[in-house]
Amino acid sequence: MRGNRLKTVLSPFHVLIVGGGIGGLCLAQGLKKSGISVAVYERDASAQFRHQGYRISIKEEGSQALRDCLPEPLFKLCVATAIKAATRLVVMDQQLQVKFARPLSHPAVPDETGFGVNRLTLREILLAGLEGIVHFGKTCERFEQVSNGQVRVCFTDGTTATGDLLVEADGTNSVIRQLIAPEVGIDDKLEAEEDPHDHFRTRKSQRSSTSGKTF
Ligand SMILES: Cc1cc2nc3c(=O)[nH]c(=O)nc-3n(C[C@H](O)[C@H](O)[C@H](O)COP(=O)(O)OP(=O)(O)OC[C@H]3O[C@@H](n4cnc5c(N)ncnc54)[C@H](O)[C@@H]3O)c2cc1C
Repeated sequence: MRGNRLKTVLSPFHVLIVGGGIGGLCLAQGLKKSGISVAVYERDASAQFRHQGYRISIKEEGSQALRDCLPEPLFKLCVATAIKAATRLVVMDQQLQVKFARPLSHPAVPDETGFGVNRLTLREILLAGLEGIVHFGKTCERFEQVSNGQVRVCFTDGTTATGDLLVEADGTNSVIRQLIAPEVGIDDKLEAEEDPHDHFRTRKSQRSSTSGKTF
């Protein structure tokens, strides 16, 4: 009994992250860097399980977040593996004869304040050093509060994980969001009305509608 109480007192604060996408993995890196115990649960069977999409543009804020969360060599690797920006705009006819060309002002080497990266490469970098922390093949189906103030996540394979804080990083169709705030839906009407052709703005509105419910 006394031993149990001692164990409870000495247990480190443990964070559970559901979703091993860009957000979940970046947070896990940051927590690990800060010495906070963390585990990530990702439904994909492995890191290479599916194509992650083409590329992603990292703007100044995103770059700063990566710099803050990642160990320096990994941040440098993100920049080093970034896609080189185009240096010329060229228009050709159907015979590939150049009709118009002009230089573009982008720097020839990727700039640390904003760069484009291949999504799979970025995911691989974000996974580096997280062996034993990221658990693949774990699809969260629900969570429950445990009597001692902890939270338990239940997975579709019948296993569970218990921690002190649960972070929902399982994307736009988050299972956890649907459980804690079923009334919150994805509403892209407002921004779509503002600019129906701007796909990326619409996506941004989806993210902001869910992020307020993240805990
Ligand atoms: C076409 C397109 C282009 C974009 N371009 C850009 C861009 O250039 N720059 C930019 O900054 N942003 C861009 N975005 C937005 C960017 O992709 C997202 O903001 C980003 O992926 C969100 O990261 P995330 O980790 O929150 O979620 P996600 O990347 O969606 O990751 C969620 C993870 O959770 C896992 N998961 C889901 N459900 C469960 C579950 N029940 N249990 C366990 N795991 C689960 C998923 O498998 C996934 O790995 C673009 C989006 C789209 C659609």
